[in-house]
Amino acid sequence: MRKEDVKNVLETLDRVYGVTKEGFYHQQPWQLLAAIMLSAQSTDKQVEEVLPSLYRRFQTAEQMSEAPLEQIEDSIRSIGLYKNKARNLKKCCTQITQEYGGEVPKDMDKLLTLAGVGRKTATLFLADAYGIPGVTVDTHVFRISRRLGWALGKNPVEVEVELQKVLPEEYWNRINFQLIYHGRSVCTSRKAKCGDCVLMEWCEKKMEK
Ligand code: SF4
Repeated sequence: MRKEDVKNVLETLDRVYGVTKEGFYHQQPWQLLAAIMLSAQSTDKQVEEVLPSLYRRFQTAEQMSEAPLEQIEDSIRSIGLYKNKARNLKKCCTQITQEYGGEVPKDMDKLLTLAGVGRKTATLFLADAYGIPGVTVDTHVFRISRRLGWALGKNPVEVEVELQKVLPEEYWNRINFQLIYHGRSVCTSRKAKCGDCVLMEWCEKKMEK
């Protein structure tokens, strides 16, 4: 992998997919964390549809922590895995209330102690809520980084560490949504459409037509 190639890929991604993505609507950090938790294996659109009534019903993390589980389930019923997510939301809000005085911690290690919060959720939250740079490695970032020749890691954490070395810090937050768009439309999991790919010139795994 040549430095020049990485630079060309990054500039192309900026041009094609833009440099910013609107985060989930929220007024308080715990609401954003809840929205990101809900988005696992669900579309942004599905999440956005439930947020207004969810925020109206539960105005603080404490209120959600005290609510009957069925009420939380009822508010997010249209979201995939809603029972599991409702349980995690209630537990997570209880931890935020009892252990952190109602404030979501700004620290990765502390975030990872919260119910339902994994590394991907925590990294996205820190980036969107506080602008803290981080590389979020989901299935698209994992696959495309390896195809481009940017990373060889066998799991998301290894790839995250590699990408932090390959990419300038100012690109960390946006590489996630850019590669998600690219992974959904062109560099798909089953069959990469290399002939239509704007990154083909700099990709190690490109398959010639
Ligand atoms: S050239 Fe092919 S493998 Fe490489 S990023 Fe593009 S679609 Fe993916």
